[in-house]
Amino acid sequence: MSEHDDLWKADLRDGIRSVEDLQRLPLTDEEHKEMDGAARQFKISIPASYLNLINWEDADDPIRRQALPSDQELVVHTLEREDPIGDDTYSPVQRLTHRYPDRAVLFPTYICSTYCRHCFRKESLNDGRGGFSVKEMEPAFDYIAKHQELREIILSGGDPLMLSDENLTCIRQRLETITHLRLLRLHTRVPVTLPLRVTDGTIRALDGRFIVVIVTHFNHPREITPDAISACSLFRKAGFMLLNQTVLLRGVNDDVEVMKELLCELVYSVGAKPYYLHHCDLTRGLGHLRTTIDEGLQIMRGLRGHISGLCVPHYMLDLPGGDGKIPLGPNYVRDRSESQWHFDTYDGRTRSYHEAATPKICVAKEPANSH
Ligand SMILES: *Cc1c(COP(=O)(O)O)cnc(C)c1O
Ligand code: SF4
Repeated sequence: MSEHDDLWKADLRDGIRSVEDLQRLPLTDEEHKEMDGAARQFKISIPASYLNLINWEDADDPIRRQALPSDQELVVHTLEREDPIGDDTYSPVQRLTHRYPDRAVLFPTYICSTYCRHCFRKESLNDGRGGFSVKEMEPAFDYIAKHQELREIILSGGDPLMLSDENLTCIRQRLETITHLRLLRLHTRVPVTLPLRVTDGTIRALDGRFIVVIVTHFNHPREITPDAISACSLFRKAGFMLLNQTVLLRGVNDDVEVMKELLCELVYSVGAKPYYLHHCDLTRGLGHLRTTIDEGLQIMRGLRGHISGLCVPHYMLDLPGGDGKIPLGPNYVRDRSESQWHFDTYDGRTRSYHEAATPKICVAKEPANSH
């Protein structure tokens, strides 16, 4: 273990790790009481550096809203579900979800640096499932080896960067022996909530024969700190592709100006391409954080054309039950008749477009029994 590892371990140790630790926070008795139920129901952890981003003068602070428990998490809507996007339905073996043909999600750990209040896996993280164990991973490795159609493995969790560099190396080397795999992707919030965890050792652990893609999870411009930028630049300098996914959250980033600043700073300060903007899933107890789809589409309309195309993510809905992701638009086609199209422009005008092309003719084979 290097001195770098001491730094992030201290950041975790000095943060919030239990319900009792919450007592230290500069809040009123009422506010403490208001957190208690949810704090006992779901896992809790907030590293000291992430906690320090909270402005305690503001009861609606966007960092606080993502990290501190609220009794609103105990309010469950009838349409909400324990397994909102069907991770378990599409899990042929433990610690693996395989929904799409050529890529699968691996869960090497169920531990995170910060337990996000909006997490769509918050109930599965609660199940008493824990850290990494080679034995628990074996069935998943066997499954991946048998499925030749897989090209890409996504490490998720939990947070894969909460694994030690030794365990990350072990997983990467094991996957490298499976010759049909090409790409290793990590979905991680560590660069945001525990950026000191990313060290040269992390890079060495991940750097091998795969194309490596790091997908970070920034939700608010104030999360883009100098330490977060440094962590991300280590990945970029190593030649890893850097993307970001954001969850659209009421009271955090459901505002076009906040969203524009977040997405532009991701590109211009962090060097991460905004990949997905997720509509908040039907996770139980997230009604207070969920926007409507119309609100999301309205924000998306405020992006395209107004900021660089590099900064514009795809707005995605993950269907309940595991039916997959749906790109939500917005739709710029107002109507069409034959080759005459009518479009909405980015700045709110209507323009028509006449196509100059003839469709490719597909000659259907005559069915054998036709006359
Ligand atoms: C979201 C998701 C993926 C990745 O989908 P991409 O569109 O390739 O980013 C893969 N597997 C599962 C189960 C998912 O939920
Ligand atoms: S880091 Fe990811 S998996 Fe962990 S609580 Fe946050 S959203 Fe959920």
